[in-house]
Amino acid sequence: MELYKKLFSKLGDQHWWPAETPFEVAVGAILTQQTRWENVERAITNLKRAGLLEAEALATVEIEAIEEQIRCTGFYHQKAERLREIARYFSKNGNKIPNKPTERLRRELLDIKGVGDETADSILLYAAERPKFVIDAYTRRIGECIGIKGNYRELQRHFEERLPQNVELYKNFHALIVRYAKEYCNKKRCDECLIKEDPRIQKIEPSRPELNEREELCEPLGTDQPPETIFKTTISPSEETESSNGLGTPP
Ligand code: SF4
Repeated sequence: MELYKKLFSKLGDQHWWPAETPFEVAVGAILTQQTRWENVERAITNLKRAGLLEAEALATVEIEAIEEQIRCTGFYHQKAERLREIARYFSKNGNKIPNKPTERLRRELLDIKGVGDETADSILLYAAERPKFVIDAYTRRIGECIGIKGNYRELQRHFEERLPQNVELYKNFHALIVRYAKEYCNKKRCDECLIKEDPRIQKIEPSRPELNEREELCEPLGTDQPPETIFKTTISPSEETESSNGLGTPP
């Protein structure tokens, strides 16, 4: 909670996720993989204009029609297939989603091709309003600086066990982590870091990295990641599921 308070006092409410419907959140979560959010916004506008930002329409349209609208986000063939899959899921389950237990819903989302932990939890949190803490590359990076390490589920458990089960808190906390990492970690502003000098935050875990280790963490997340991008996932054309690099989150 100390980390949240610190980030909130500096950066305030981030108002994530900017979308008109839960399905639009899910579409954004797929499109944002390995691209900038600006490209996602363009693609969403295109889909809206083409009448394809509805689950039923997107589930049944020709794949080429989807590709045409989302070309600006890159990996458009793969993303078009994934969008159609998620659209089929929403089309079939839309009314049932609010009543599904969270873990069951999570498993079903993970069964959709191209949906990994990060995308599933983003949809759960921002579209289905479930208290699932999203872990991305930025969370891992900041976590290492305060001595929190582990695989996806371990990190998620770490945060969830220490936070109240509050959806709005989870939403804003993840957004704050991304914003902070963009503005500080990606720009190698470790000498100005608000986190590393705060003993209340550093008390979270005993295994605090030394300064030179933390500075190494400021290396860019990947060669394909512009420093100014945000929210969550990345995919490679050959991968079945996502892997996180902290790309493409809403601004
Ligand atoms: S600014 Fe540097 S020291 Fe601070 S959290 Fe980011 S990587 Fe760690």
